Amino acid sequence: MTNINATTGTAPKVSNEQIIRRLLTYMAPFNGIMFASLVGRVIKFSGQACVLGLAAYGVGDYVNAFIAAGGFEGGAEVQWDVIWKWVRYIAIAGTVVGITSYLENYTGHYVAFRILAAFRDRFYYAMLPLAPARTSKLQSGDAVSRVMTDCERIEPFYAHTIAPAIAAIFVPLIILSWCWTVHPTIVYFLVPFYVANTALLPWIVSMLGGDGAEYRNKLGEVNGFVSDSIQGVRDTVAFGYEGRRAKELFTIGATMQEGQEKLYSADAWQRALAEVFITVGILAAAWVGADLALAGEIEPLTELPAVIAVSIVGFYLSVGLANNYTDFRVAMIAARRLFAMMDQEPAVLDNSKTAVVGDIEPYIQIKNLTFEYDADDADWSRNKRVFNGLTLDIQPGKNIALVGPSGTGKSTVINLLLRQWDSESGSIKIGNHDLGSFPLADLQRYFAVVSQRSFIFNDTIRENIRMGKYEASDAEILAAATEAGLAEFIAASPEGLDTECGERGSKISGGQRQRVAIARAVLKNAPVVLFDEATSSLDVETERSVIKALKKLSEGRTTLTIAHRLSTIVDSDEILVMIDGQISEKGSHVSLMEQDGWYAKMFRMQQDEVDTL
Ligand code: ADP
Ligand code: MG
Repeated sequence: MTNINATTGTAPKVSNEQIIRRLLTYMAPFNGIMFASLVGRVIKFSGQACVLGLAAYGVGDYVNAFIAAGGFEGGAEVQWDVIWKWVRYIAIAGTVVGITSYLENYTGHYVAFRILAAFRDRFYYAMLPLAPARTSKLQSGDAVSRVMTDCERIEPFYAHTIAPAIAAIFVPLIILSWCWTVHPTIVYFLVPFYVANTALLPWIVSMLGGDGAEYRNKLGEVNGFVSDSIQGVRDTVAFGYEGRRAKELFTIGATMQEGQEKLYSADAWQRALAEVFITVGILAAAWVGADLALAGEIEPLTELPAVIAVSIVGFYLSVGLANNYTDFRVAMIAARRLFAMMDQEPAVLDNSKTAVVGDIEPYIQIKNLTFEYDADDADWSRNKRVFNGLTLDIQPGKNIALVGPSGTGKSTVINLLLRQWDSESGSIKIGNHDLGSFPLADLQRYFAVVSQRSFIFNDTIRENIRMGKYEASDAEILAAATEAGLAEFIAASPEGLDTECGERGSKISGGQRQRVAIARAVLKNAPVVLFDEATSSLDVETERSVIKALKKLSEGRTTLTIAHRLSTIVDSDEILVMIDGQISEKGSHVSLMEQDGWYAKMFRMQQDEVDTL
């Protein structure tokens, strides 16, 4: 019952380092801006340390100047020149902090979102050659949305990991070098705390929180279950099954929570520990500083407070990395899964880069074909051979019909012709060229397909038809629409070709959807047209009129028509009957009726049905 598909992409073990390297390759085009963001961040935090240090130093300096001028007892005047000097310094440092802070944030996010967009594009293109053989697992709405959230979760890696990590190393180095000029002993004391904050903390968190993969996988399962439940709510209620589904959801949810709690309790521990480390670090700095001041090694009123103030900035910065560590780990898990999906071997390899030249005769020969769907591809696959030596011929220019019981492999013939899957043995030839010798793109130009539920995009009629030929003019589109029998509909709707089809074509009728698909095929003007139950989902009357459009499209072309209602294919040049993946009868309608086999029996049965209508 639960959506097993939700765990798609649980990755094989690849080290985090490899994942990071790969994520960084996506950043390459933006390296310049990323570098600017980094420099901005380093300057910003160094500037902040400066502001605090200057303030602390300035107060001491003023007190010293005031005392030197005689102090309160000596009636010294307010030392305005000293005050202005420090205010000027602080104002300059503050302005630098402001500007670099803006630059850092702007460039950081600019880069992150650009990279994400590029990443999504790459992901999409990586999935294309995998479709549909490897993406069938992805078809549930859950999986698609999960892929999108996984993409989003990579953002913190670019926006909140790289720059903080590098700044967490560079800024403390700058701070420590300044402290060194004050007194080397301070540096010896500070270094262990910086190291603990930057390196030890993340390590502790990863020990406490696991890798979070468990939580992410469960989250996928919960999403899948919920979306499944919402889609199936009518049937769930109709069968009184809602209580049971709710209980099941609770169980999955509880295991997810465990993983979640582990991950985020580690996060909370990390934040608490960081505060402890920082406090102890500041105390240590104060202690060693005070010691040095008492020994007369450093200036007590200026250098001592400045050292403490500056080191505080360093401390907070050094935990910045640890604070983003949970986001970073989630990003790693997301990236790992996306990469695992992208890295799947395509089921079909486009190994032919040289185009088959010249005119290819649309003569299709299938010889001794064996094929079986990969059991891994779909849980519902019966893992049995679909074809065990299929042989059939489609002569150029002929209209061939392919009929037979459902599940016998008719659609699979089309899948193999389009090379959406590859056969195991045997051969498929077009005009005496092996199917494999065509580049996939050429092959796609060769065929036009109209299937039972052709996909209609949420766009206008014009754009949906244009898929057949991208550069088509309006006149061509209209001509194709007319040939498909859409002329009346287009003329009658106020928007004409601009009529919106709605999501999956929900705003137009089933007959119109099929006509749009036919118009697409007309526009494509491919030598071979494949109809896969193109009219099966229509009522008898609509079917009749759509068939007229199909016939028009078939004229002068080589066609293979898979049909359920035999009355629609009686005048084909040849009818092939496929049973259990074999052609068991073939011939014209008349000769098949004489043979009195499956076809004749089926034809008579369907006639009776129509008569009783
Ligand atoms: P038909 O079009 O004749 O009804 P198909 O060619 O669609 O039959 O299916 C032939 C067999 O292959 C059926 O047993 C079906 O369950 C199986 N099958 C079809 N598509 C897939 C797929 N994508 N993955 C696994 N098995 C499939
Ligand atoms: Mg089918």
